Amino acid sequence: MLLVLIGLASGRAVGADRISVAVSIDPLADFARRVGGDRVQVLTLIPPGASPHTYELKASQVAQVARAHLLVLNGVGFEFWADKLVRAVDNPALEVVDTSRGISILEAGEHEQADRHADTDHSGGNPHIWLDPRQAMVQVGHIRDALVRADPDHAAIYRTNTTRLLTELGNLDREIVAQVGTWRRRQFIAFHPAWVYFARRYSLEQVAVIEASPGWEPSPVELARVVETAKRIGARAIFAEPQFSPKAAETIAQESGAQVLFLDPLGSTLKDRGYGAMMRYNVAQMASALR
Ligand SMILES: [Zn+2]
Repeated sequence: MLLVLIGLASGRAVGADRISVAVSIDPLADFARRVGGDRVQVLTLIPPGASPHTYELKASQVAQVARAHLLVLNGVGFEFWADKLVRAVDNPALEVVDTSRGISILEAGEHEQADRHADTDHSGGNPHIWLDPRQAMVQVGHIRDALVRADPDHAAIYRTNTTRLLTELGNLDREIVAQVGTWRRRQFIAFHPAWVYFARRYSLEQVAVIEASPGWEPSPVELARVVETAKRIGARAIFAEPQFSPKAAETIAQESGAQVLFLDPLGSTLKDRGYGAMMRYNVAQMASALR
């Protein structure tokens, strides 16, 4: 089935001479659109509302990647399907862009199940680098470099667009530094370990998570431990995420006297409003619990 679809979809033409860019998650797709402007056609592989930690690509998406010039990945083992995908598309002209190169990676955490996808090369690091705007700037640089390689005739456009985007991200970072600096609380409980780079950048502390390995529900013992932590730090909010059921967060919130708020590490509830809007939404949610 898979091979038939790839066969039908072969041939690289993607309308005009635009560069076809397949990207795993929305925040990186936003960067690719901003850097590429109307020179690129961007396809996000993980659909809104799905979790990248568990989503398996469909055969039709494999066919789309077979026609792409670039495959932009977050890296750090986040795209556990990437190696299999690249073998399946069998497109020697496809450039795979690992946007995590050069970023100092934090450990996944003691409870992370590194053998979850045993058939893939799982690096074991925490992949949520894009949630620190300073690291996102590094990722943007990799996207620019890949577009310049793929389409050198338009390098000037990519460089100009990137300069503008990096300025915005630098401003966003300073804005968050200023805002977080006024908060009276530093400790928070997250749904899954998505906010460790954010916390490192802004001197916050993710003291507990509800699901260390997203998609695997916590045991009663683990739930009780998070409730204890919530009480100890006097948590005003427990953070859930739109890609997962809020049930466990609701239980913990009820038993610790906190409320449930939503953080959205992928921006899927803010469709097409871009990375800056996503980060400002998350900072505002955290602010209502921590300021
Ligand atoms: Zn995650």
